Amino acid sequence: MQEQVGKAPLATLTADDEARRLIEGLHQAAEAISGATSVHEICQSLAGHFNRLVRADRTVMYLVDQAQQAITLGVGAGHVTETDLQMTYAEFSSGISGLVVRSGQPALSLSADDGVEPEATRKRRIQANAGALIVAPLSVKGEVIGTVTTMNQVSQRPFTPQDVDALMTLATLAATAIQNVRLFEETQAANRVLARRALQLETSSQVGQQITSLLDLDALLTQVVHLIQTHFNYYFVGVWLVADQPEAVILRAGTGRTGDDLRGERLPMSTASIVVKVCQTGRPRMEADVRHALDYLPLAHLTEAQAELAWPLRSGEKIFGALDILSDQVGAFSADDQVLLQTLADQIAIAIRNAQLYKAEQHRRYLAEALEQAGRELISNLDLREVPRRILEQLATVTPYERSQLILLQGEELSVVSWRGFPDEWQGGGIAISESDTYRQVLESGRPVCVAEAAGMAGWAPGQGSAVNIAWLGVPLIVKDRVIGLIGMSRTEAVFTPQEVTLASTFAGQAAIALENARLYDETARFSELMERMVENRVTELHEAMDILERLDKTKSKFIEVAAHELRTPLTLVKGYGDMINAYPAAKDPEIQPLVQGILAGSTRLHEIINSMLDVAKIDSQTLNMRRAPVKLSKVIHPIVTGLEPALQERRLALTVTGLDDVPLMMADIALLHKAFWHLIVNAIKYTPDGGSINVSGNVIASDPEEAAVEVVVRDTGIGIAPEHQKLIFEKFYQTGEVSMHSSGRTKFKGGGSGLGLSIVKGIVQAHGGQIWVESPGYDEAHCPGSQFHVLLPLALTV
Ligand code: ADP
Repeated sequence: MQEQVGKAPLATLTADDEARRLIEGLHQAAEAISGATSVHEICQSLAGHFNRLVRADRTVMYLVDQAQQAITLGVGAGHVTETDLQMTYAEFSSGISGLVVRSGQPALSLSADDGVEPEATRKRRIQANAGALIVAPLSVKGEVIGTVTTMNQVSQRPFTPQDVDALMTLATLAATAIQNVRLFEETQAANRVLARRALQLETSSQVGQQITSLLDLDALLTQVVHLIQTHFNYYFVGVWLVADQPEAVILRAGTGRTGDDLRGERLPMSTASIVVKVCQTGRPRMEADVRHALDYLPLAHLTEAQAELAWPLRSGEKIFGALDILSDQVGAFSADDQVLLQTLADQIAIAIRNAQLYKAEQHRRYLAEALEQAGRELISNLDLREVPRRILEQLATVTPYERSQLILLQGEELSVVSWRGFPDEWQGGGIAISESDTYRQVLESGRPVCVAEAAGMAGWAPGQGSAVNIAWLGVPLIVKDRVIGLIGMSRTEAVFTPQEVTLASTFAGQAAIALENARLYDETARFSELMERMVENRVTELHEAMDILERLDKTKSKFIEVAAHELRTPLTLVKGYGDMINAYPAAKDPEIQPLVQGILAGSTRLHEIINSMLDVAKIDSQTLNMRRAPVKLSKVIHPIVTGLEPALQERRLALTVTGLDDVPLMMADIALLHKAFWHLIVNAIKYTPDGGSINVSGNVIASDPEEAAVEVVVRDTGIGIAPEHQKLIFEKFYQTGEVSMHSSGRTKFKGGGSGLGLSIVKGIVQAHGGQIWVESPGYDEAHCPGSQFHVLLPLALTV
């Protein structure tokens, strides 16, 4: 009893203490969990509190997702071993915990043999030396989210229903707290997602802006990769583009110094690489851990890469590259990232397409301008030695090449007339065209020929200095449907594209015209040079001839002078003696008289001739002694007419004089004028057939008092003068030759003369400052068109 009584207060005390302890424990637990922000943290803390609350050996807490059939968290307190925590969902639900989860009620089992523990897990409990245990559900609004299991070892104290109550009280608290923290965590996560989405949208919009504002492809891509990298802090962002010839994927832009270093990196299509694969298949690739990707290609300097995401860049069906992102964290790319990158990749693809179109357009315009400019340059140059060199120079601005030759067809040979890009020691020269020669192909077809591997080209000789160049293009030079040669060009880098072939051919058309122009110009220049030389020669010859003529003329003048002087003395003697003979009475003898008269007439005529010769000599030596005095022209003409009256009558010629009385006095040498008009009137008589008429007219021409002149015209109805003689008859000794019959009579029709008359007239007229010329329709003895001799004497010398 004592024992009982003694025990009872102890028990009561113990019960009270126990209740207080439990309440305190619950209080502490509630405090501890109130500040927790993570589920793991709160569970870890709770496990300790559960353990202490019921003074258990160990406590294990599980959170489960029934829908997913998964244990989402397992934490423990006390003497928990690793095996206690390593429980699969199957083991969990087949044991006592499964019962609790399904019923929502706590379970108390004091030993493995009390029948509460299902058989499936009983063995495990025995092996773990577990004695009493309580499993309490963690439930919120009727849903069980986990369990808490407290255990003691076989030898330790068994749990009581109070322990169960206490556990359940704390479990209810715990479940609510866990749920709150979970909700908090979910909200946080949702916020993070929203923030990331906002960032993604911003990036996307910025990329969009860049795209519309930048048309320079390289600048655009560099901007885009940097934008993506700075917004999402990826390890590396790059854009790879597919190149056609040869097929490869080339890095066009990349972030950071690595990006700069790697720009231009070329991956042939045969390379095992995620990027190459994406470009080939057009399917995006996401590698959460690149160590597991067989075709991951580690690039130099990018050693930290852990995950890769590559998205194809496409325009319609065509894949022209990939957006490539590397992260230095395994599993870095979320589903959201992928959506964003797809959007970005699509935008970038459009931008690249636009930039490429713009660039292509720009390129086309540049080429058109270059072509025009080159053509203009060429056409403006006409130097045949210069043009071939300029052609090759201009060609480089239209179609890039490393080496070129301008080859012209000369007979059956090809001759390299200009070359560019060859080693200094290369000297050009001739090329023989063999049957299968590629050159021959260009020349015969008149079409361009493009060779990808020039070294294997027929007729290719390393000696031609082009062995290093692999791609060759030959374009014909055509002038008026005739191939005159070709331009050959080669380079190492890439084969000539169809566009380049077209351009080079168009250019060659202009080049051929330029060559032809220069050739024609050269020919013309050479011809005119030749002509000039010929003219020069002729001029020299003419000068020489004139010298000779002048010398001859001088000799002639000298001869006339000498002859006249030499003849005058003996003639004077002849005439003197003739006169003396005539004075003798014997001369009156009818038989002697005509002889004496003949001698006298002959010597008078000879005298006249000698006088004429002396006149000519004076005129030639400009020693005409002019004695000017006021002269009335009619006073000159009338005595001549009177003197010639017998001849006019004999020849039945009518001579009229008109207008002379109105001519004012003029300062002139009356004797010389008499001589001049005497010759003109005698000629008119001589060259006019019997019965004709002669007119001498005077007329004052006074357009300007200073230049006033008198024009005397001696007209006849004679045989006329042929145009080709009209100038020459004024030269001394010149006779037309049409006067064949020379009669000795001075005024006989076509009577002979010395050919000196008109040259004396001209000399006298010119000595008076006047002019003389003849007008006649021509020479015709049958119809007698007549002649008009015009003498113009200036009146400025009028008295
Ligand atoms: P000539 O003494 O021979 O007459 P001129 O010097 O006086 O020498 O004349 C030269 C030539 O001009 C003549 O031979 C003649 O053929 C031609 N001639 C001169 N005057 C006339 C004329 N009035 N009608 C036709 N022919 C003329």
